[in-house]
Amino acid sequence: MTTVELPRIPRQVPDWHAQGACQLFPELDWVEAKGPAALACRVVCAACPVRARCATEALERGEPWGMWGGLDRRDRKAIALEYGFPLPAVLPEHGTNSRYAKHECRCPECTTAHAVYEADRRATAREKAKRRNLWLDPPVVEQRRRVGRRWVEAGQYMLPLPGIVQIAERRTTPSRPYLRLVA
Ligand code: SF4
Ligand SMILES: [Zn+2]
Repeated sequence: MTTVELPRIPRQVPDWHAQGACQLFPELDWVEAKGPAALACRVVCAACPVRARCATEALERGEPWGMWGGLDRRDRKAIALEYGFPLPAVLPEHGTNSRYAKHECRCPECTTAHAVYEADRRATAREKAKRRNLWLDPPVVEQRRRVGRRWVEAGQYMLPLPGIVQIAERRTTPSRPYLRLVA
């Protein structure tokens, strides 16, 4: 599979982020707060004017990190289980096919990554089909010639696996009814 390096495009930050009360408390640990620090975050969230949106959006995207709307990961997991939100989980990066296919992200980067993945997959499938067709419709030797230590007669089929010594009387296509390989 071809790996493609895609440019990172910044995610769009919703307008309401600017109204979050947490903007006024950058000294608090909003990502891994525990114990009293987590309580301080919850107190700030409780008075935040955009608390409902913050919590809802974090639940909808299965946010794995930090405190959102006064809910930490454990709170969000409990709510997700009860109300059918996606479970908080670390998702593959944007710009990957797995984020598109397994997690149904349709952002431009994931869509591009999926298109590249699909094109690559189809090209590989075409290559495979081409190799298979050599067996169904193998090239024929036009003139007697030497191949390694033996002679190949005119009219003999050339198959892609030189190690195979004999396949006798095998039906192929109607125009070439039988295939005989001789050691
Ligand atoms: S609810 Fe809490 S985390 Fe969300 S924006 Fe308000 S203060 Fe920040
Ligand atoms: Zn995406």
